Amino acid sequence: MAIREILIYPDDKLREVAKRVTFPLTDEVNTLIQDMADTMYDAPGVGLAATQVGVPLRIAITDTDWRSDEVRHEKGGEPVAARNLKVWINPEFTWKVDTLVSWEEGCLSVPEVYEDVERPAAVRLRWQDTEGETHEADFEGFQAVALQHEFDHLDGILFIDKLSRLKQNMIKKKLKKRKKIENS
Ligand SMILES: [Zn+2]
Repeated sequence: MAIREILIYPDDKLREVAKRVTFPLTDEVNTLIQDMADTMYDAPGVGLAATQVGVPLRIAITDTDWRSDEVRHEKGGEPVAARNLKVWINPEFTWKVDTLVSWEEGCLSVPEVYEDVERPAAVRLRWQDTEGETHEADFEGFQAVALQHEFDHLDGILFIDKLSRLKQNMIKKKLKKRKKIENS
């Protein structure tokens, strides 16, 4: 079990656009995926993109069988066991519904910030699994929201980018202060 450091906003590396993954996966990439899972469950979180651990590759993992409020409740407690770990490689949305849904989002790279964000309520996704096999499926509700949040990371986008400028500045101040306290 190896836990990697999760980059915290406003780290510049969170803004990198990740590169496509080629197959077969190298040992290095397989280790990365395992470490990402360890890191996500330890945090605990419902999703993690490779970008968040400083590796600019188009890989994200999710376990949306926990709800975000449940995870928040368990924060600081014992690491949570895997329930339904999914690995998404080179994910691409091939369709998004026009209807928007508002969901309270949080992010391991933006600690202790929870804000409502509007996103398409349903999506069609094409992705590859760890064997390089291509899949396509539709997702809605919390899963659709979580996938859009995670894959935004691969393009250097954070959920707070969708908030007002005023709110973004408040969050930046809050996290800079938090960093200072941690470093002192
Ligand atoms: Zn995030």
